[in-house]
Formats: sequence, C-alpha cells, structure tokens
Amino acid sequence: MNISDMYKSGKTVLSFEVFPPKKTSPIESVYGALDELTALNPAYISVTYGAGGTAADNTIAIASRIRNTYNIETIAHLTCVNSDRNQVKDVLEKLRENNIDNVLALRGDRIPDVEPKTDFRYASELTAFIKELGGFHIAGACYPETHPEAPDDVTDIINLKKKVDAGAEFLISQLFFDNDIFYKFQKRCLIAGINVPIEAGIMPVINKNQIQRMVSLCGASLPSKFSKIMTRFGDNPEALRDAGIAYAIDQCVDLISSGVSGIHLYTMNNPYVARKITEAIGKLL
Ligand code: FAD
Repeated sequence: MNISDMYKSGKTVLSFEVFPPKKTSPIESVYGALDELTALNPAYISVTYGAGGTAADNTIAIASRIRNTYNIETIAHLTCVNSDRNQVKDVLEKLRENNIDNVLALRGDRIPDVEPKTDFRYASELTAFIKELGGFHIAGACYPETHPEAPDDVTDIINLKKKVDAGAEFLISQLFFDNDIFYKFQKRCLIAGINVPIEAGIMPVINKNQIQRMVSLCGASLPSKFSKIMTRFGDNPEALRDAGIAYAIDQCVDLISSGVSGIHLYTMNNPYVARKITEAIGKLL
C-alpha cells in the first residue's frame, strides 16, 4: 500500500521506527520487540538502514517480517552515499521480492575514512532514480532545525523542495523537542511550495547517554522545560524514563491538536515506551 494514501483521511497517522540489531547480534534478537511493537498496531513501521549499507539484508529481513508476517505496512530506509546504481538496484529488487514497495530515500551520513561513491550525491538524486525505475512509493527525510551541513535554513528548504519535486510523496522529520521549531519549519515548507504530508519525528528520551548522543549527532535544541528534567532526574533512571515519556506525550498532544499529518515515534526498539505513548494518545488520532 502507498503510505502517502494514509494521510488522505485527515486523521493523524502514528508510525514507528525500528532498527536492525548490531552486527554482533543475531537478527532474531529483535523479534521479541517486534512482536510487542506490532501488537500496538501502528499505521506503519519504518526500518533503518545501517550507515554505509553494510547490513542491508537485515533491513530487508525485518521489513519483510513486518509486512508479510504481521501484515503491517512498512517502509525500508535506503541510503546511497556509499552505493552505486547497481547496488541500489539490487536492494530494490530484493525489496520488491519481499512485497515491500515503500522506500525512505536517504543520502546517509558520510563515514570518516570511507570515500563516498559518486553515483548519487543527494537524496533527491536517489529519489529520481527510484522514481524512474518505478514500482515504489518514496518518502524523504527533513530537518526542522536545518540539516547540519546546510549553510542556512533557506538553502536547506530549497534543497528539500528538489527532493519533493524528484518524487518524495511525504516527509519524516528529524527528532525535535520544541514544537514551535516544527511549526515554523512547516510554514517555511508551505512558503517554498512543499505541500506533501510531513510526519513529526518524536524521540522519547529515557536515559542520559541517549540524549547526549542524540543532541551531538543531530544538534536538536533543548527547551528549558526539557533541560530541567535532565538536571533533576538524570541520575534516577526510572524517574527519567517516566518524565521522558510524559514529555513526549505532551509534545504529541500539542502536535495532534495542531493538525499534524503524522507522528513518527523513534521507538529505539523499546516496546514499553511505545506502548505508554500509544495508550496515551491512541484516542486522539
Ligand atoms: P539530503 O536530502 O541529500 O541532504 C543532505 C544535505 O545536502 C543537506 O544539507 C541538504 O541541504 C543538502 N542538499 C540536498 N540536495 C542538494 C542539492 N541539490 N545541492 C546542494 N545541496 C543539497 N541515516 C542512515 O544511515 N540510515 C537510516 O536509516 C537513516 N534514517 C533516517 C531517517 C530520518 C527520518 C532522518 C531525518 C534521518 C535519517 N538518517 C539515516 C540520517 C541521514 O542519512 C542524514 O541526516 C544524512 O546526513 C542526510 O540524509 P538526507 O537524505 O536528508 O540527505
């Protein structure tokens, strides 16, 4: 099914993100989490792609399980920075064989000391390539606080428009903790003529290390309400988990009330957290 059709009802779409296990763990190590996450019946589940495409088979296997065992719609992430056209074609062929026709087309982060391939410089080029091959519905990533490599927010939005013009039918946002930043981003998109649905990426923060890593990776701003939680409960794991869940629920309630197209929950493969949030907002969707 084309995921972008899900937004046509006008209801807020709730979707999850999961990631494949580390190379050192067997793929079965995520099956327990998948059992519980799929039981929450999200509209669809996205499956991340290892940086550099090293574990593409795991992404395909997990997406296939979601689609074909649990009968839940899925979207496979696919990065291109370290792949050439034939490698991308191979992955797409395997996705097709597994009944998966939604792809989140990404450039991916450059890996230090690895010379990037040159067939695709940007996600928009991958998007155009997949669109031309045909048979897939394509989504793209977007950055409410501007992609870290972009010189400024206007340039980043102009680049995002190229991705949508190339064929991205909906967008999933980078995580953010301040909804006003997302609302301003939505306005910039409208001004630029970007009219596709945009799902808000929400990451419930449940431990201190996670937040430090996330903020250094994506540069999300931390509102004072959020920083106070970190200061007060940083050394109390259970209190921090509960406060992090409450914060994410508060963000979701405000986003849904404001008519957001979708909420994409970065579950970190944690069914407990996903369940708490799904239960809290399920009736609001
Ligand atoms: P692009 O859209 O290509 O943008 C990258 C940069 O290039 C931006 O600064 C943009 O402004 C600029 N740019 C774009 N087009 C042009 C142009 N035509 N001319 C000049 N500049 C241009 N990474 C993974 O490795 N695996 C994953 O599974 C994964 N999933 C993600 C899911 C989401 C929802 C998000 C938000 C990110 C995800 N990432 C993932 C991270 C992503 O790969 C990185 O953020 C990466 O640096 C950018 O990818 P992109 O597809 O947004 O790139």
